[in-house]
Amino acid sequence: MLDLISQLRSALGDKAVIASTPEMAPYETDWRRIYNNKAVCVVLPETTAQVAAVVRLAGAAGVKLVPQGGNTGLVAGGVPVAGPPQIIMNLQRMNKIRALDATSDTITVEAGVTLQAVQEAAARAGRLFPVSLAAEGSVQIGGAISTNAGGIQVLAYGSMRAQVLGLEVVLADGRTWNGLRVLRKDNTGFDLKQIFIGGEGLLGIITAAVLRLHPAVTAHATALVGVPNIYAAVAVFKAMQVQAGQAVSACEFITAGALALGLAHSPAIRLPFTSANYVLVEISAHAPGQGVQEILLSALEPLLEDGIASDVVVAQSERERADLWRIRETLSDGELAAGGSIKHDISVPISDIPVLVAAVETLVAYRFPGFRLNIFGHLGDGNLHVNVRPPAGRTLADVGPSKAAITEAIESLAMSYGGSFSAEHGIGQMRLEGMAAHKSSVELDLMRALKTALDPQALLNPGKMLPEP
Ligand SMILES: Cc1cc2nc3c(=O)[nH]c(=O)nc-3n(C[C@H](O)[C@H](O)[C@H](O)COP(=O)(O)OP(=O)(O)OC[C@H]3O[C@@H](n4cnc5c(N)ncnc54)[C@H](O)[C@@H]3O)c2cc1C
Repeated sequence: MLDLISQLRSALGDKAVIASTPEMAPYETDWRRIYNNKAVCVVLPETTAQVAAVVRLAGAAGVKLVPQGGNTGLVAGGVPVAGPPQIIMNLQRMNKIRALDATSDTITVEAGVTLQAVQEAAARAGRLFPVSLAAEGSVQIGGAISTNAGGIQVLAYGSMRAQVLGLEVVLADGRTWNGLRVLRKDNTGFDLKQIFIGGEGLLGIITAAVLRLHPAVTAHATALVGVPNIYAAVAVFKAMQVQAGQAVSACEFITAGALALGLAHSPAIRLPFTSANYVLVEISAHAPGQGVQEILLSALEPLLEDGIASDVVVAQSERERADLWRIRETLSDGELAAGGSIKHDISVPISDIPVLVAAVETLVAYRFPGFRLNIFGHLGDGNLHVNVRPPAGRTLADVGPSKAAITEAIESLAMSYGGSFSAEHGIGQMRLEGMAAHKSSVELDLMRALKTALDPQALLNPGKMLPEP
């Protein structure tokens, strides 16, 4: 390994190769601090040519590579697995914006540029980059593409897959595929970029991307709505869609329990009213003169009159809007600070959300008494984070043996409603059992065939996404 480390140092420079234990530690541990395995070293390439050089050196030495972005992934896809020697390749130094074309509405960025930096560059040019999530200050574009990240505006703009026009990828054999196309239309054979989007670093290392920009939002109308139950929450969403159509850009569901953890973690946040459940809804206008505030109010009034909504606060300024969003953004951190949970990231058809939630409540109450449900998520996408906290006074470590049974039961329930067991976070190391349990053998065979074709030495991101046959 010493030989390999010195070869990497000559290829990248001394500072770009970290091999000391304390400095490597943050790269070896996942965001939830559950998975932690040793790496040979961490490399920080600055150019596509350096990425390719590392791939060739690692391949020649038979050492595996773990691509890593902001390391905010929630399924431990970007950290090493136990077993084979692995190098972590973090793309943070590939952080240049290569081009922005406001006429074509495209931005070309290196993989290590953060999601927030892309949003800010777009805003400076009077445009919008719509993918937004709580960890956006750390998430790198390469990580967001490799996980096909969703976030709070999928409803209006789609996930990362819908934003990617072109990619530059270093393949497992060290060659670079330049697919940095800036085109809206290009029917010239297989659309190769699609296999790397959501590919979790198994098929290649993304080094740059062309992303689609959108017209800037001219006005928002944002409301926090109190609702008695999940049935009423879905009714609020539907009423908004009937009134505002595609202008509904976000619709988030929050239970009082989830909110309590968030507020305990962020005591500065002011809650305008209390309710059993909340819906945070936003309507966006893309042209001056579209009265989004009026549209929002006309959708909310009948809901209040009929008792579907118990309380409503509508943001009157950008500051009040930011305050409402802070309530949503603190939920994951609040849960983590309270000791974490057995996490689930499921989706079902929106019409089945209420029955799914009722079924989950019954399941947990009867099969896992004492465990506490913590549900929140992207209601408008049919995607809920159905997280299960240990009984009061016990930690996640105490309840280890129950974890697999709880996850199996909740994921199977989602599947029984025609849903997904992993809506937006991906598979990584954490959802391998779900892949084995819920994906058909045909689908797994096709995925393995792709992996073997592109990475016959199984160099890239071992032990992730694809369960052993
Ligand atoms: C507070 C919080 C809120 C979140 N909210 C959301 C949300 O609303 N919606 C959502 O979808 N996700 C959410 N996430 C999950 C996470 O932020 C996303 O999955 C994000 O896209 C991961 O990006 P990253 O740069 O941190 O990637 P990492 O975690 O570093 O890596 C993720 C995966 O991508 C691979 N990878 C990373 N970079 C590259 C590259 N350049 N080439 C090839 N493979 C690569 C890694 O190997 C790994 O498999 C949230 C996470 C946190 C902590």
